[in-house]
Amino acid sequence: MSRFWHPRVARLHPYVPGEQPKMERLVKLNTNENPYGPSPRVVAAIQAAAEAGMQLYPDPEAMALRTAIAEFYSDFGITPAQVFVGNGSDEVLAHAFHGLFRQDAPLLFPDISYSFYPVYCTLYEVPFETIPLDDAFAIRLADYEGDNGGIIFPNPNAPTGRALPLADIQGLLERNTDSVVVVDEAYVDFGADSAVALVNRFPNLLVTQTVSKSRSLAGLRLGLAMGHPDLIAGLVRIKDSFNSYPVDRLASAGGIAAFADRGHFERNRRTVMADRERLTAELAGLGFEVLPSAANFVFARHPRRAGADLARALRERAVIVRHFDRPRIADFLRITIGTPEQNRAFLSALEDALAQP
Ligand SMILES: *Cc1c(COP(=O)(O)O)cnc(C)c1O
Repeated sequence: MSRFWHPRVARLHPYVPGEQPKMERLVKLNTNENPYGPSPRVVAAIQAAAEAGMQLYPDPEAMALRTAIAEFYSDFGITPAQVFVGNGSDEVLAHAFHGLFRQDAPLLFPDISYSFYPVYCTLYEVPFETIPLDDAFAIRLADYEGDNGGIIFPNPNAPTGRALPLADIQGLLERNTDSVVVVDEAYVDFGADSAVALVNRFPNLLVTQTVSKSRSLAGLRLGLAMGHPDLIAGLVRIKDSFNSYPVDRLASAGGIAAFADRGHFERNRRTVMADRERLTAELAGLGFEVLPSAANFVFARHPRRAGADLARALRERAVIVRHFDRPRIADFLRITIGTPEQNRAFLSALEDALAQP
C-alpha cells in the first residue's frame, strides 16, 4: 500500500497465477502447460525473425498472422477481418471485458470457472453474477437467462475440464441475442467442438483461443479472438487506445508457423489426449472420482483424503498440482497431463502419499 496509489489500486484483487518454482527435479503439473516443445518450424521462424528487422516496429494490424489464423479456420469461412490477436488470450479477454462487458446489466459466468474473470470485473468495474454449476460440475446454459450485460464461460471449463456440446452453445445463442457471448476456448483442441463454427451465424459471439496450451507456446504470449468484424473492430479500438503493438515480431512469426504446421499440432494434441485417458483410468484405479475431461488436465478427488492434504503430500514428494481452496471444489486436485514419465512420477508419489494415513 502506498499513499501514491490511486484508491482503485488498493481495491483490486489481482489474479494469482500458478507458481513457477525454480526447484530442480520438480514434476510440475500445476499450470496446464504443454509438456512437449512447440513445432521445430516455430523455433526456426522465430530465429529467422530475430535475425531480420528487429529494429523495426511490427505490423500494428498483425495482418500476416491474422491471415494465417483465418486460413487455419477456412473450413468455417473465417476471414482476417474476423480475427483479433493480442499478447496472450488473457489480454484479449481483458479487452473484451473493457470494451464489450462494461454494461449496466450484470455479466454472467459460472461460479466455478477461470478465476481471472472476477479479477477483470473489479479492474473494469463490470457488474457480475455467478451461475452455479450443476451437481455433476457441468455448466447448465439453460440457467443463463434474463437481462444480462454479457455471458462468458470456458469450453471446456476450467478447472473442471468438462466440455459442452456445440448444440447447447447454439441454443444459448438463439435465446440470447442482445448481449455478447464469449466462449473461452483455451483448451478446446484437447477434445471439445469449437464454437468458431458458429461465428458466421451469430454476430454477438466472440470465441477466444490461445497458443499457450495446444501449441506449446505459453512463453510466447499470443492469444486470439474470432467474431463478427464489428466486434473485432471494437476490440481494435481498445487495443489502439492501449498498445498498438501487443504482438511483437517474434510472436507473429512463431504464431504463423504454429498455425501452418498442422501435423505437429495434431500429433501433440492426440498424444496429450491419449495420456489423459490413461491417467484418468489410473486415478480411478486408486479410488479417485475423475470428472470427464476434454482438456489437458484432469480434475479429481479422493473419497477419503482432503485435497489440501494430498496437494501438500505431493509437494513433499517434489510433485506440484493445483489445489483451489474454494467451496465445493476444495477436495479436488487439478492435474496437468505431463509426459508419460511425469505422469508415472506423479502416480507413484500419489500412491506413496495415499499409503500414509
Ligand atoms: C490458460 C488460460 C487462458 C490464458 O491463456 P494465455 O493465452 O496464456 O493468456 C485463458 N483462459 C483460460 C480458461 C485458461 O485456462
